[in-house]
Amino acid sequence: MITQFIRKLFGRRPDAATPVADADGHHINVHGHAVPREPVIYSASAEKIPRGDVPQSAIRTCETLQKGGFKAFIVGGGVRDLLLGLKPKDFDVATDATPAQVTALFRRSRVIGRRFQIVHVMYGRETIEVSTFRALQTDAETDEHGRVLRDNLWGSQAEDATRRDFTINALYYDPVADALLDYHDGVKDLHRRVLRMIGDPATRYREDPVRMLRTARFAAKTGFAIEPGTKAPIRELAPLIHNVPAARLFDEMLKLLQSGHSLESLQQLRNEGLHHGLLPMLDVIMEQPDGERFIRVALTRTDERVLEGKSVSPGFLFATLLWQEVRVRWNERLKAGEQAIPALHDTIDAVMEEQGAKLAIQKRIIADMREIWTLQPRFERRHGSTPQRLLEHLRFRAAYDFLLLRCDAGEASAELGAWWTRYAEGDPTEREALIAEAANGGTARSPGSPARKRRRRRPADKAAGGEGGSEGNPTDARTGQGGEPPA
Ligand code: ATP
Ligand code: MG
Repeated sequence: MITQFIRKLFGRRPDAATPVADADGHHINVHGHAVPREPVIYSASAEKIPRGDVPQSAIRTCETLQKGGFKAFIVGGGVRDLLLGLKPKDFDVATDATPAQVTALFRRSRVIGRRFQIVHVMYGRETIEVSTFRALQTDAETDEHGRVLRDNLWGSQAEDATRRDFTINALYYDPVADALLDYHDGVKDLHRRVLRMIGDPATRYREDPVRMLRTARFAAKTGFAIEPGTKAPIRELAPLIHNVPAARLFDEMLKLLQSGHSLESLQQLRNEGLHHGLLPMLDVIMEQPDGERFIRVALTRTDERVLEGKSVSPGFLFATLLWQEVRVRWNERLKAGEQAIPALHDTIDAVMEEQGAKLAIQKRIIADMREIWTLQPRFERRHGSTPQRLLEHLRFRAAYDFLLLRCDAGEASAELGAWWTRYAEGDPTEREALIAEAANGGTARSPGSPARKRRRRRPADKAAGGEGGSEGNPTDARTGQGGEPPA
């Protein structure tokens, strides 16, 4: 309220005092917003939108809305990715129908959200998100940094286009008419491979600092150059990320990590100084040679999975990102003589508490992370029925994958990972032989045991032959907890 008042008294914000048109002739008003304008209309097929790749659910949603007398277009990432020859993650529809008018047309639909009302239209397991065209509010209520707090006023299609983030995200595809409506030279930017913010970038980042993360994510995903004006304000405005509600940051970080380009995205964040508010530890982590290697291996593997169309659980992802912090602090406690398992739990509590303030990681996900982490010391115990019990644990698979990461990063011995691979795949006789082998120091292979199958590449510097723990790593050496067979 106070800021509204001050702004009324003193006029526009300093960074809204931008020129009326940028170098490419994009018009910007005194509020820093692009001026709504008429679209350039392309033939979608001439622009090579592969109609066959558009799901029936999205097409039917547009058809039904249009038959009901409304405008309806596929918008956002779906259109962008189709034009780029990428496989879209999901399809959103924009319309001039209000949420109530939308739900009246679809039997299986419901209104979601209170502040930002959208409609979910369901087709089997698929959901199409339908949103009503929104207006850019010039007198929107903001916080003291210019962040828009409420933005739920319906508007025209041209206004809706101006409030989208990037020109390549503001393309409207009508699959019925085979038309592609382009309000802000998105098609040109796609051809030029440029990521450009609509309107005055500084104003748009102030309104919603999450857009800075989106810049990093889309630059990494598309490989496009960030237009200089779009890039320039980020460094200075990066601290505004701190004002974004933690739950929203979490959603955006998850999108970034699951984009199939997580490593590049995080590097982009780092380049722009954006990571401070998100993963405060990332700074430290990336600078530790060991930490960097672990994260690199983990994210490379995550990206491979995503690009193969496999899922990556949020728990596993955040467990990898925060592991180095947990490990380093845990080691400190172990050196101070604390008991391994309680020390691990206490460390996790402390790290999650600090992290939680920045990034609201949901309780369910934290529980997954904790389980993946606390199962790690149990891999060191390879005697009696202990391995069998671990194998039967509900979260064995995730914890085992995590162990393999630690092996690949050189943090646990390659022998340990290979042993568990053989154990998990072996029959009861083979498993017994493996227990005996571990008791002998982990080096002797019992006769007749199958050749080592290795799913993962073994780092060259960690040849087989080490024992359960890994050299120079107090964590692993200590977590043997009496279970570690003498070498
Ligand atoms: P993805 O492939 O991750 O789904 P997307 O571009 O579809 O990418 P969404 O978060 O699904 O991203 O948003 C859909 C569309 O809504 C965007 O393409 C953009 O036009 C608009 N949009 C989303 N978030 C913002 C934002 N913070 N500011 C302005 N426009 C936004
Ligand atoms: Mg999307």
